[in-house]
Amino acid sequence: MPELPEVETTRRGIAPHLTGRRIADVTVRNPNLRWPVPADLAERVRGRQIQAVRRRAKYLVLELDAGALLIHLGMSGNLRVLPGDSPARPHDHVDLMLDDGRMLRLNDPRRFGAVLWTADWRSHPLIAGLGPEPFDEAFTGDYLYERAQGRQQAVKNFIMDARVVTGVGNIYASEALFRAGIHPARAAGRIGRERYGRLAAAIREVLEASIAAGGTTLRDFTDPSGKPGYFVLSLQVYGRADLPCPRCGGAVRQQRIGQRSSFFCARCQH
Ligand SMILES: [Zn+2]
Repeated sequence: MPELPEVETTRRGIAPHLTGRRIADVTVRNPNLRWPVPADLAERVRGRQIQAVRRRAKYLVLELDAGALLIHLGMSGNLRVLPGDSPARPHDHVDLMLDDGRMLRLNDPRRFGAVLWTADWRSHPLIAGLGPEPFDEAFTGDYLYERAQGRQQAVKNFIMDARVVTGVGNIYASEALFRAGIHPARAAGRIGRERYGRLAAAIREVLEASIAAGGTTLRDFTDPSGKPGYFVLSLQVYGRADLPCPRCGGAVRQQRIGQRSSFFCARCQH
C-alpha cells in the first residue's frame, strides 16, 4: 500500500509536470473507485489551472485556480505523466488531459483510490479532522505527551491514529518505536515527555529515510513502462521475527497489537 513516503515521492515526481498547466479535459473510464468519481468532474475542472501540487496525509491535492482535486492512491494506485495519446491499459481509470498534450493518468487495479473535487480542500471532511503532519513544527514530543494523557491504548495504535499524527503506517510505527526504545504495547498515557521527544524525532527519521530512499531509486514518473516500486528503508525490526535485534542480538518478537503485526525487541523496548 502506498504510504506517506511513496505519496510524497509521487508528489515530487509529478509536481514539476503539472504546476502551471491547465486541465484541457478529463477521461473517466471507470468511476467506481473507493468513492465514485463525480459525474461532473470534467465540467468542474476543464480549463482550470493547476497552481500547486500538495500532499496532506496520504492525499495528493491539486490546487486549481478554483477548487481542488483530492487524489488518493488507495491500496494499489499510481500516477504517471504520459503523452496524451498513450493507449489505455487495464486499470487506467482516470486521465487528466493537460494543455501541453500530456496527461496525468491514474492506474489502480484494486480501485480503493479516489479522485474527488472540492471547493475548499482544507475543510473537506476527509482532511479537516487530521492531526499534524510529522514534519510540521506543531508535531513535537510535548504535543504527543499532551495528547496521550489519560489514554490506555497501546502507544503503537496511538501514533497510527491519523487524528493524532498523519502518515505513520504500520511499518514506520514499528521502526520508530524500536529507535525510540519504547515497547509498542505500552499504554500511551504512561510514557514520559522525554521519551515522547525521542519518539517524535524517530518518526521523522524513519519517514525522512524512506523518502530519501524513494528519491534515490526514484521511478521515472513519465516512463509508461515504469512499475510503481516500493522502496523500503533498511528495516531494523519490521518483518524480522526471530532474527537478531540489531542493537542487542536478542530475538525480535512479533505480536498482534490492534489487529496489526508488530515487531519489537523485548530487551531494548520498554
Ligand atoms: Zn534488542
